[in-house]
Amino acid sequence: MSIATNLGFPRMGRHRELKKALEQYWAGKATAAHLQETAREMRRAHWQLQRAAGLDVVPCNDFSLYDHVLDTAVMVGVVPDRFASITDELDRYFAMARGGKARDGQPGPTALEMTKWFDTNYHYLVPEFRHDQTFHLATTKPVDEFLEARALGLVARPVLVGPVTFLLLGKAKEAGFAPLDLLPALLPVYEELLGKLAAAGAGWVQFDEPCLVTDVGDDVLAAVEQVYSRFAAKAPAVKILLATYFGSLGAALPRVLKLPVAAVHLDLVRGPEQLDAALAAAPPGLTLSLGLVDGRNVWKTDLAAALATAERAAKVQRVMVAPSCSLLHSPIDLADETALDPAVREWLAFAKQKVEEVALIARALVNGRHRLADKLAENAAALERRRTSPLTNNPAVRSRLTTVTEDMLARRRPYPDRRVAQRKRTPLPAFPTTTIGSFPQTEDVRKARAAFKAGKLTQTDYDAFLREHTAQAIRWQEEVGIDVLVHGEFERNDMVEYFGEQLEGFAFTQNGWVQSYGSRCVKPPIIYGDVRRRGPMTTTWTAYAQSLTNKPVKGMLTGPVTILQWSFVRDDQPRRDTCWQIALAIRDEVADLEASGAAVVQIDEPALREGLPLRKADWVAYLRWAVDAFRLSAAVARDETQVHTHMCYCEFNDIIDSIAALDADVISIETSRSQMELLGAFSRFRYPNEIGPGVYDIHSPRVPTQPEVERLLEKALGVLAPDQIWVNPDCGLKTRRWEEVRPALVTMVAAAKAVRDRA
Ligand code: GLN
Ligand code: ZN
Repeated sequence: MSIATNLGFPRMGRHRELKKALEQYWAGKATAAHLQETAREMRRAHWQLQRAAGLDVVPCNDFSLYDHVLDTAVMVGVVPDRFASITDELDRYFAMARGGKARDGQPGPTALEMTKWFDTNYHYLVPEFRHDQTFHLATTKPVDEFLEARALGLVARPVLVGPVTFLLLGKAKEAGFAPLDLLPALLPVYEELLGKLAAAGAGWVQFDEPCLVTDVGDDVLAAVEQVYSRFAAKAPAVKILLATYFGSLGAALPRVLKLPVAAVHLDLVRGPEQLDAALAAAPPGLTLSLGLVDGRNVWKTDLAAALATAERAAKVQRVMVAPSCSLLHSPIDLADETALDPAVREWLAFAKQKVEEVALIARALVNGRHRLADKLAENAAALERRRTSPLTNNPAVRSRLTTVTEDMLARRRPYPDRRVAQRKRTPLPAFPTTTIGSFPQTEDVRKARAAFKAGKLTQTDYDAFLREHTAQAIRWQEEVGIDVLVHGEFERNDMVEYFGEQLEGFAFTQNGWVQSYGSRCVKPPIIYGDVRRRGPMTTTWTAYAQSLTNKPVKGMLTGPVTILQWSFVRDDQPRRDTCWQIALAIRDEVADLEASGAAVVQIDEPALREGLPLRKADWVAYLRWAVDAFRLSAAVARDETQVHTHMCYCEFNDIIDSIAALDADVISIETSRSQMELLGAFSRFRYPNEIGPGVYDIHSPRVPTQPEVERLLEKALGVLAPDQIWVNPDCGLKTRRWEEVRPALVTMVAAAKAVRDRA
């Protein structure tokens, strides 16, 4: 019996071959045939890798040229009208993903919206549904990939986004209906597909329904029951694995276990406690797929513990062994990491190693532990070294964490008093202007950094280069008439990596890429140990910039929650503890910036909202420690030091009290794309401190006009008090070109002056 399985594998390739092929194709430098050939090669390589690592059945249709939700939409014929005139299938697919090409002077159709896949950093494209939406089977991608695997001699299990999750992830483009209402129309298409898969010889089909681990109502559970009963009746020959992941099923567990499916997958990494309930409630014939290997993180599995769990389950129920979720969220292969500290490296497992772990647990389960005693002992020894390593246990850091007191979380005096002290120290006009931190990371900046990293540019020459850029940025901001300046962040590659590289407890990979969306990948740092600041991280650049001007220059920091959220986080202590360790390091940096003369410090927290748990009941606990982490970083500042924070891509309504609890003197937010609508939350809440609502969209190369910016400011004035308002762009300017930034900021300053004069 085959019991080692996988729910999905990364798509990009060990050397991001797919990314390169996609970008060449989009740039018109490679043909569609070349792209498809690369895609086929990736699928083959990844199947064979998984087979060699010990899987009996490999997943198929987990591959995608861009996104699996988009694939599903295209497969069932959900293509909005604005793309209908694009005849080439591949062009249409990429137009839905990235926007269509302009034609005859007309702008091309805008792409589907993109949003986060549950609480991961992967982004999917949001299907758009009309009330009279029809569906048809437009492609047979799952069947094609199944046959492709079979031609290579492999047994594959097609992976499909389940119909209920698919509908719930989509968006009704008209009022008066909910996507779930479309289920009766959609089901026949899935049934047709199941029929084709059965005819092609697929024994198993995996339906992903991760929506089941979120707060769903009875309507959703009823829909799931309807779907899988229909499938059981219409395609009795196909065995269905219903996959749930990213959390526990909670109250839905008993109903899910009673579905007429062959197997249910449970995430036992995120929801280990659900196993006992599952073993008690599962009907005798049901196979449980045990998600024992963490698909969301990079740590080696505790094989003895996982095996004990598997053995306990196998006594009661037939089982399969699997990662907790698709390995889409893991880097591919640890073997490509030659520069990691070997002490840390032996604690890690990437996708390939995770598949090997799954296979090992499964084999030990079937053949008995003794046959794999060596491997288990090796694993236990590595884990023991991790547990006791001085790298994971810095007594000074740990004892400092226990000394954090309530008063370390609060500024000395309340905001109104601080404001008086701050304006006295740093007088500012009404509607003060500022930017969010970064200035264009132009080709020459990136080249200089690469040359420095490659050892082709000396530290002295690189520093001189950065000083020149910083000095230019200061001069230029003075000329434009901005009130609170920034140094430009030219020395930073990335807002998390820059800090991680200077903190103890962080490791960086050479190839640890994970897909964020489309061809875009990120390489998150790995937080493996206790976090300690070796010394000041930003004071030199801030002080240098400040030495060039009489205007205040902001010290720029990344906040603890964002550093946590955009890293792989150690799993051997609560996330809160890791976050607070980072917070203490940032706190020390704030104190040093202040000591070196900074009157304004900004602590960016764009990822605060991203950390929200999938279930509402868990929000309060998260928000409490996350807000406190920010306060722990910031509250060391003296009253006359102005603390800013910044957040982007964020809905504020349901967390506005937490935003207010940060107690930043000034918060800058992204608002221009919503035409200041996001400010509503602040005004309804009577948000007391200062706010810089972004007055133009930095994601677009378009330069705003002065009346546009003034109109947005007038809108802000409609809901906020005049002395609350700052004037700034939506976010940092690093992705823009100077040719766009210069006129945009000149316009912004002119608009601020105009509004000032009228007030
Ligand atoms: N200070 C950062 C910058 O300007 C903030 C970036 C962000 O919010 N994502 O680039
Ligand atoms: Zn931002």
